[in-house]
Amino acid sequence: MKAHGIVPADGVVLAGSGPLLLLLAWQYLHAGVKMKAILDLTPVRNHLRALPHLPRALLAGHYLMKGMSYMKGLKRSGISTLHNVSELQAKGKNQLESIRFVHQGRQQTIETDLLLVHFGVIPHSHLSRAAGCQQHWDSSQQCWRPQRDDWGQSSIDGILIAGDGAAIGGARTAEHAGRLAALQAVHLLGRMDSRERNRLARNDRKWMRDELHIRPFLEAFYHIPGKLLSVPYDETIVCRCEEVTAGEIRQAVADGHSDSNQVKFLTRCGMGPCQGRQCADAVAHIVAAAGGQSVDQGGQYRGRPPVTPLTLGQLASLVPEETE
Ligand SMILES: Cc1cc2nc3c(=O)[nH]c(=O)nc-3n(C[C@H](O)[C@H](O)[C@H](O)COP(=O)(O)OP(=O)(O)OC[C@H]3O[C@@H](n4cnc5c(N)ncnc54)[C@H](O)[C@@H]3O)c2cc1C
Repeated sequence: MKAHGIVPADGVVLAGSGPLLLLLAWQYLHAGVKMKAILDLTPVRNHLRALPHLPRALLAGHYLMKGMSYMKGLKRSGISTLHNVSELQAKGKNQLESIRFVHQGRQQTIETDLLLVHFGVIPHSHLSRAAGCQQHWDSSQQCWRPQRDDWGQSSIDGILIAGDGAAIGGARTAEHAGRLAALQAVHLLGRMDSRERNRLARNDRKWMRDELHIRPFLEAFYHIPGKLLSVPYDETIVCRCEEVTAGEIRQAVADGHSDSNQVKFLTRCGMGPCQGRQCADAVAHIVAAAGGQSVDQGGQYRGRPPVTPLTLGQLASLVPEETE
């Protein structure tokens, strides 16, 4: 919608858990899309989980107000919005025909040929992984992300990482992080002493702190239940490119492969055109749960170039750097 101004046909169902579900529903509403239902899979227990973070979140009250106004607008519109939904399944033979889910202890079915799901946002770490930057598991954001210091310095000298490629913090945070990384780059190149760097960084650090007040609340409120991420039904397709199912992944673990990369070699999950961008973290969750270990222990796919799919023509047209 943002990039191409495209909206789905009427009858779409939105499902998942995360702030963008609400935002998208609100935007569709204003674009005149007739949504059939909005299924919120955020568990009620997350309200308690988020409560301790509310005082800090109030410091960024404008975000809370925005969320609440979206909710009010959607409620007023009369679109069927169900909360605390679980066990979501997409059903159909050659294409989606219906979705099944549990709400208030009752199994329900909605007929639709389009389901859009949102289960949080994770950093695009393919570039930093391919470069060999160390990554760590962030249990709060429920994703792998590259290690870096306050200036964005990764584990490899000369590589600084800012924005969504490092951690999810929103558009403004990405801008401040980008400026901090730029200041550090200038400093490392010997063009600015540390005093001047720190002076110029002061405002960005303050604004960034202000922007981040909302994050712990959002991460706790929209914490995806472990079972949903790590124990999908056997027939669920996890790697869409190579059509590898959750059952095949679990079988590989049962056969003694306890590492995401071993499972990748064995099943080809993550080896298709998207190179694991869609399935990497899902596979990490499933491997960890099936092997009775933490996601950290199961490791992450190694990133390989190309970072995005490209044609042979594009490859052939690369001009090699001149060597002396
Ligand atoms: C649907 C949606 C709604 C959002 N709404 C909000 C909101 O309301 N408020 C808010 O604060 N945040 C929002 N966000 C988050 C916000 O968009 C991001 O936090 C922000 O854009 C991050 O900036 P960035 O520069 O790190 O990454 P991006 O803006 O994603 O920029 C990365 C750029 O790198 C390019 N790129 C990627 N790979 C390569 C490559 N291999 N080679 C060359 N170029 C490459 C991409 O094409 C892109 O132009 C939203 C995000 C989404 C997806």
